[in-house]
Amino acid sequence: MVCHPNAIACLHTVIALLLPQTTAMDNPSRRTVLKQLGLAGLAATLPAAAPAALAQSTPAAPVVASNGFYRSKLGDTEYVVLSDGTASSPVLPNWGGNPDKLADFERLLAANFIDPKSAPNNFNPMYVDTGKNKVLIDTGRGGANGRLVANLTAAGIDPASIDTVFLTHGHGDHIGGLLAFPKAQLVMGALEYQFWTQPASGQPSDLVKNTLIAQKERFKLIQAGDDIVAGLSSVATYGHTVGHLAVMVSSGDKSMMHLGDAAGHFILSLQIRDAYLGFDADKPMAVATRQKLFARVAADKTLVVGYHFPFPAAGRIRRKGSAYEYVPNIWGS
Ligand SMILES: [Zn+2]
Repeated sequence: MVCHPNAIACLHTVIALLLPQTTAMDNPSRRTVLKQLGLAGLAATLPAAAPAALAQSTPAAPVVASNGFYRSKLGDTEYVVLSDGTASSPVLPNWGGNPDKLADFERLLAANFIDPKSAPNNFNPMYVDTGKNKVLIDTGRGGANGRLVANLTAAGIDPASIDTVFLTHGHGDHIGGLLAFPKAQLVMGALEYQFWTQPASGQPSDLVKNTLIAQKERFKLIQAGDDIVAGLSSVATYGHTVGHLAVMVSSGDKSMMHLGDAAGHFILSLQIRDAYLGFDADKPMAVATRQKLFARVAADKTLVVGYHFPFPAAGRIRRKGSAYEYVPNIWGS
């Protein structure tokens, strides 16, 4: 970082980099933040009010800026991949769970400049406008961290205009934002819905009670292979969860697939055969499903979206030796 010769401006830059949400703070608030950071001495150097020129020198953008939506076309159908934001977390063993492959995972991550102890995890719901239906695939995390509604709005999509919400599976990072779409028809695989709402042991979680169960009357439960709406069909991709469904989007002779969490990790799940996620429910089944799915989309050169792939998360999968690799779309394509 290169600092302004003016030490106070430099201090503002430091605060902004440490705490991007504080960029609009007034000086008393900045003093409080500095005290919390153990920098009370620096806080004392802040003037009571920043001169206009100084205020303008404060960076307004967060450390990592992103558009948050990626709009493109598939035939006559428009699709928009939406970022629900990111969260840094350990890559291992979440995204590579096989105890006997941890050294391979670490080597491969290092070769791709990824710190196994902490890397950003992306969350990528997708909006599809078929001309007849406006469909949202998964709803992100909801709550204070969820960026889905903000990014829908930034993309010019009114959340209230969405008529159908499809849930690939019942994990919190996919159903957490459900209540932001109170008018949409809700669609989910029957097997998956039942698994979460009537667990074999114990009680449903509070999140499931507040979303899947509270909105029970609004759900249309489907079987694998059924259409969600005309142009979007569900694909059985069991293993990550008991009844996980991916989504095939078709328009004329073109098609693409939102893989949900059947995609796994954009490097480990593709490049190391038999790799499973720490949070795959049925690990052998998840591996078998992934291998079948990757073989299919690689052979057909199908455009895919991975829910946890790096935003904008759209690209293709091709064979690499005895495994596969992800080839991201070129921006603008
Ligand atoms: Zn997920």
